[in-house]
Amino acid sequence: MKRIAFIGLGAMGKPIAERLLQGGYELTVFDVNRDSMAPLIAAGAREAASPKAAAEHAQAVFAMVPDAPDAEEVALGVDGVLHGISAGAYYIDMSTIDPITTRRIGARLAEAGAKMIDCPVGRTTKHAREGKLVLMIGGDAADIDAMMPVFELLGDTFIRCGPLGNGTATKCVNNYVAMACNAISAEAFVIGKKAGLTPEHMLEVFGTTMASNAQALQVFPQFALAGNTEPGFMIALGHKDLRLAIGLAHSYDCAVPVGQATMDIMAKALEAGMGRKDCSSLLLMHEKAAGTTVRLQGSGG
Ligand code: NAD
Repeated sequence: MKRIAFIGLGAMGKPIAERLLQGGYELTVFDVNRDSMAPLIAAGAREAASPKAAAEHAQAVFAMVPDAPDAEEVALGVDGVLHGISAGAYYIDMSTIDPITTRRIGARLAEAGAKMIDCPVGRTTKHAREGKLVLMIGGDAADIDAMMPVFELLGDTFIRCGPLGNGTATKCVNNYVAMACNAISAEAFVIGKKAGLTPEHMLEVFGTTMASNAQALQVFPQFALAGNTEPGFMIALGHKDLRLAIGLAHSYDCAVPVGQATMDIMAKALEAGMGRKDCSSLLLMHEKAAGTTVRLQGSGG
């Protein structure tokens, strides 16, 4: 495999596409925002005028766009990948979307003879630059085997989730848990501070008990507890992922009281104009309401 197309060159897509280019693949790129394509073009990628055009000469087409309607537009729209992709080519959707949309796209592409894999990613843009993402991969085992040499440029952890759609289903439930841990940790740090505890003390205890969670132990010290609200992982994306997971839950008649409460808090943060801040910045909302601040010593925040 030599020729790859990449669609959606945002915070995550750009570093992933750069790694493909550095890995020696002939890369064609497309993004609705032309400015996002410029650094890739300067580095040697070819510009396409549409997802269809990007797909026309590619043996594998990647997409990394924000939400399910974007993914559907890229794949099945008037100028979508479906109308350009060759029979036998691979379509790898790395966007965090819901499995119902993934499977609908996969069924249409299969009619054109293309092979779809869903491959949402975990971790951060820094991991994307370093090729250390977690890939949650759904699809036919032989198709995944064929794409592994490419995936190995992008990640260091590969979780085979099952058939097409299971990658996005896995990502939905994963982020459902992550966002609930984020929201409850933000509340706990403020409660503890009001009760006379330091964040250092709370982190030490959380790290050795069943309260242990990576949001509290890894995200908060790096972001909100250090006075840093730059993402990381934006509240707007966390809210979107909760919406996807709750939509999925509703389609299976599953109850979501905790997830709904988490989404309501994130919606409040969105209304307060915090959409582009790191998810841990929910802490700041609770601090304001409680009239306190919770910062690690020496954080300067
Ligand atoms: P982003 O908003 O930075 O980038 C998305 C890019 O897609 C933009 O350049 C946009 O112009 C482009 N785009 C949107 N619609 C398009 C269309 N119809 N055709 C072509 N291009 C289109 O978002 P991101 O942070 O790169 O996130 C992408 C996906 O990765 C999301 O589903 C997100 O949930 C997931 N994700 C992000 C992170 C993270 O830390 N940023 C981590 C894991 C997963």
